[in-house]
Amino acid sequence: MTSTSAPLTIDGRTGPWEIVIGLETHAQVTSRAKLFSGASTEFAAPPNAQVSFVDAGFPGMLPVINQLCIDQAVRTGLGLDAKINLRSVFDRKNYFYADLPAGYQISQYLTPVVGQGRIMVDLPGGRSREVGITRLHLEQDAGKSLHDQHPAKTYVDLNRSGVALMEIVSEPDMRSAEEAGAYVKKLRSILRYLGTCDGNMDEGSMRCDVNVSVRRPGEALGTRCEIKNVNSIRFIQQAIDYEARRQVDVLEGGGAIRQETRLFDSAKGETRPMRGKEHAHDYRYFPDPDLPPLEFDQAYVERLRAALPELPDAKKARFISSYGLSPYDAAVLVAEKETADYYEAVVLPPHALMLSLSKHEGLVLRQAQHEEPGKDLILSLSKEKIAANWVMGELFGLLNKAGKDITESPVSPASLGGLLDLIADGTISGKIAKEVFALMFETGESAAGIVEKKGLRQVTDSGAIDRAIDEILAAHAGKVAEYRAGKDKLFGFFVGQVMKATGGKANPALLNERLTLKLKE
Ligand code: ADP
Ligand code: MG
Repeated sequence: MTSTSAPLTIDGRTGPWEIVIGLETHAQVTSRAKLFSGASTEFAAPPNAQVSFVDAGFPGMLPVINQLCIDQAVRTGLGLDAKINLRSVFDRKNYFYADLPAGYQISQYLTPVVGQGRIMVDLPGGRSREVGITRLHLEQDAGKSLHDQHPAKTYVDLNRSGVALMEIVSEPDMRSAEEAGAYVKKLRSILRYLGTCDGNMDEGSMRCDVNVSVRRPGEALGTRCEIKNVNSIRFIQQAIDYEARRQVDVLEGGGAIRQETRLFDSAKGETRPMRGKEHAHDYRYFPDPDLPPLEFDQAYVERLRAALPELPDAKKARFISSYGLSPYDAAVLVAEKETADYYEAVVLPPHALMLSLSKHEGLVLRQAQHEEPGKDLILSLSKEKIAANWVMGELFGLLNKAGKDITESPVSPASLGGLLDLIADGTISGKIAKEVFALMFETGESAAGIVEKKGLRQVTDSGAIDRAIDEILAAHAGKVAEYRAGKDKLFGFFVGQVMKATGGKANPALLNERLTLKLKE
């Protein structure tokens, strides 16, 4: 499904403006060793504990390419549906900085390992939109200058020096902060599925340069500014909104946008100039004489392709077609592989819900009926949809509150499956199930155990329900007369009263049925 909504614009004093965004994402390659040395890439090691002579730029040291990093870059290219270049070149990008001891960064400039590709970005309401990928190239990370360790000195930590990065460049295809955020989320999800980057933005494993320009709808691209090194999705979005507004104000004030590099100040929520845009010739790129061109054959690419895992889009399509989920639900469930796995463990055998067609043919699950009495009394949902609602609703809610990851969930998929079985076979109502689930989350006990211990089993004995109904109708004779005179809405009131009288345990379907009969008497 491709979005057909009107172009997104922001209002200026003189009319609407369109925002244009392109992202350059630096993603640290998941690899135990660096791109051209055997030094470790472990996060949070003591400063300068993981530095080989190559990483420190010692003269005469030769880089040796790490094959795993090449595999990872090619696998990422395949995951981005991109052209894989069988021949690419490593170039030196020359500049001077204290945390770049060699005086150059080894990167790929004119011939990257991966060419054009695309990403389907998931937007609110289950819509999606394609964003073009321009290229992906491999390069080394630089070290880190520490300015806050000493009042008068700057220290340099070279642990990151030489770590493999993939720079993934998008086309200027995004039109709002929301789309840019969705792009980063989707890219991160693909990288994590592939296991080529852990996507930890707070550890610096993924960071973005955000290119923003504005234009009148339909006009040619405007001059862009590049906001460097933004390391959270929220900051990316804030930076875009601030920067677009700033550019509109400049243009409407009769000024012009100067192409420049800017910084995002997250404390102030604003961008400010860092330096004028450098040009490629300033870096004096040239092929690194220490490294031959990177060459491989199509068979190698095909071997990697054949071994790729199922990726989010394919999984989403499968969740829609096999489980009948909406595009929105499917997109939410597949965003993290761990969530998708959890969900599938709930719905698939051996933990599948007991509700099978052969056993309960035609049984309609009446989960939510007494929550909205009188209206849509019967809500019919498939077991897959119910499981999706429980994972995205109750489970996400409690995990969120507890600050836990789905892999740390105190309720296992099998255990949640057990709870849903009890709803499906009528042992408990959907409403009681929520209470039971909260207890399961707290104690780790099974649904069946909690239901027995707390006596939460649904009243399915029609005699008991009839008695409760009779009492309520007798106590509200006036309302019964009103109902019979045509005030249909009162049905919900009676349902509510009987539910209250039975401690919420009356089987909703049965209650519904018996009450309808009794009111007709
Ligand atoms: P450089 O390598 O000098 O930063 P590129 O031309 O490779 O420049 O573009 C870098 C990024 O800027 C890409 O993500 C691209 O989509 C984006 N971009 C290019 N032109 C514009 C523009 N007018 N507005 C917004 N983004 C743009
Ligand atoms: Mg750039």
